[in-house]
Amino acid sequence: MHTRTRKTAIETLALPGVLGLHAYEPGKPVDELERELGLRNIVKLASNENPLGPSQMVVDAISAALPELSRYPDGNGFALKQVLADRHGVGLAQVTLGNGSNDILELLTRAFVSPDNEVVFSQHAFAVYPIVTQAVGARAVVVAAREWGNDLDAMLAAITDKTRVVFVANPNNPTGTCVGRESLKHFIKRVPEHVLVVVDEAYFEYAQVLFPGYESAEHYLSDSPNLIVTRTFSKAYGLAALRVGYSLSSVEIADFLNRVRQPFNVNSLAMAGAIAAVSDEQHLTNTLAMNKQGIEQYHQACIELGLEWIPTAANFISINVKQSGRDVFDSLLQLGVIVRPVDNYGMPDFVRITIGSEEENQRCIQALTEVLQQ
Ligand code: PMP
Repeated sequence: MHTRTRKTAIETLALPGVLGLHAYEPGKPVDELERELGLRNIVKLASNENPLGPSQMVVDAISAALPELSRYPDGNGFALKQVLADRHGVGLAQVTLGNGSNDILELLTRAFVSPDNEVVFSQHAFAVYPIVTQAVGARAVVVAAREWGNDLDAMLAAITDKTRVVFVANPNNPTGTCVGRESLKHFIKRVPEHVLVVVDEAYFEYAQVLFPGYESAEHYLSDSPNLIVTRTFSKAYGLAALRVGYSLSSVEIADFLNRVRQPFNVNSLAMAGAIAAVSDEQHLTNTLAMNKQGIEQYHQACIELGLEWIPTAANFISINVKQSGRDVFDSLLQLGVIVRPVDNYGMPDFVRITIGSEEENQRCIQALTEVLQQ
C-alpha cells in the first residue's frame, strides 16, 4: 500500500503547530440534520445553548440598533465596558471585549506565548486551549485530571520556566466539574508571576447556584497582576449567536490584548444586546431555575437507566453510557436528538448533553432509553 509521506506544497507553507491541528468540531446544526434525515422537530442539546432563547429586552435593543448598521461599531466598546466595569467594580481599562470569550483566549496566546513556551491545562479541558496553544506553535502540557476535574496541585507542579499560560476552566467543559474557593485562592497565589493564570468562567452563573463554595476568581484581580478572568454572554444570557465575551484583568494585560485584537472585533448589535441582557435579571433567574430542574430530570433518568454521571455545575451533563459514546450519539441523531460525543476529550464512553427545556430533556431521555435498550 502506498502511503503519502511527502508534504504538499501548501503543507510546507503551514506553521508546524497549525499542521498538527484539527479544526474545532462544533455541534451539528439542526437544519443540516433535518436535510440529511428528512426529520422535523429536532432537539439540539449539543452546544450548551440557553433553551429559553434570548431576553425580549435584547431583541428590542438589537431592533433599535438596526438603523445604524452602516456605521462602524465603537472600537473601544465604551458603553458595554462601562456597564461591565460597574458590575464588577473594576476600572474600564481592565475590561477587554471579545468576539465570544473564545476570541480572548486566542488574543492571549497571540500576545504572550511563543513557540518555545509551554501552556498548562488539564486532561479533559475545553478543546479551545490545545487549539490556541498549537496555533502559536507552543507546547501543550496536559496534566492528568483528578475526579474528572482540574488537579490544581499537579498543575502547579507542571509549571516550569517555559510556562507562559495556565488555563483553568471553572466550571470545566465537558466535565462540568468545579474547583472551590479555597483551592482556587491557594492556586492563584502560588502561580509564579511569569505565568498568566486564565480562569475561564463561561459557566459562572450556573456554578454560582449549583456548586456550594464556588467563587469567581475576580476577587483576586487586585492582588494578581497575572490573572485573567473570562466570561461570556453565550450561555446563561442566551446570546451565543451574537459572539460577545470579555475578560477582566490588570490594566497591563488588557493593554496587550488590545494591541493584538482586531479594531472592531465586537459588533454594534452584539454590544447593544449584551447591555440589554445584563439588565434583565428575571431572564437570568428563569434560566437558572430551568437548568436546575433539567439537571434533576437527567439525574432521575440516570438512576432509572443505571447510568453514572459526572456531577455538574453548568448547563450540561456528561453521562457514562457504558459503551461507545460516539455510537450512542449516532443512534440519537437517527431519532432527531443531537448531543455531543466527547471521545475527542478522552471520554469515549460518555456523551455530553446540554440541559434543555423540560420537554426537550424528556425527548432526549426517551431517545436515550430507546437507544440503550437496543
Ligand atoms: N470556555 C468554555 C469552557 C466553553 O465551554 C466555551 C463555549 N463552548 C467558551 C469558553 C467559549 O464560548 P464563547 O466564545 O461563545 O464565549
